[in-house]
Amino acid sequence: MNVTEEEISRASSLTEVAELVGKCERCSLYQTKTKDVVGIGNKDADIMFIGEAPGKSEDEQGEPFVGAAGKFLNEMLAGINLKREDIYIANVLKHRPPSNRDPLPEEAEACWPYLRRQIELINPKVIVFLGRHAMNRFFPVLKISENHGNAFRSEKWGRDQVFLALYHPAAALYNGGMRETLIKDFNKIPKILEKLEKERN
Ligand code: URA
Repeated sequence: MNVTEEEISRASSLTEVAELVGKCERCSLYQTKTKDVVGIGNKDADIMFIGEAPGKSEDEQGEPFVGAAGKFLNEMLAGINLKREDIYIANVLKHRPPSNRDPLPEEAEACWPYLRRQIELINPKVIVFLGRHAMNRFFPVLKISENHGNAFRSEKWGRDQVFLALYHPAAALYNGGMRETLIKDFNKIPKILEKLEKERN
């Protein structure tokens, strides 16, 4: 592996993480990528969103959630008075799987140290999973159909954090029932942030 897990864990900034992704050959996706899609947003964000993998538009533009699912995400953020600049967004995979296929377990495993380091550096209070791939990377036994919309606290990943799993915006986009559920779950975010804010004071 040309970039080692140890090197990634020593990255002292998000810029350094991005530099390592730029030369990464830990799985084969670098061979078919157009751009790296490392992450975007506020490096001091209280809330971090984690999706699955870049699609076509993201691969072309080098930014997560800029296609149809991204537009829907922006709309939901606006609905709770948040902008992309207020949050941080990243994916489990930093390079696009060909034809948007699901991430392979070995790809998710190879890319994992980057996401871990991003989380350590940002240190968000709330982590929102966009879809089951993101959720299962962290909590393999949970089921999105049962656990969506139920925020819970866990120290499993080193710090006391709140986790919230949502249906993936791309899956919900053209499915009326799922779309309604996703919006309802999404609208729980302000209460979660409010509660954390109260605890802080
Ligand atoms: N779907 C994802 O999971 N991530 C993106 O960046 C875009 C679409």
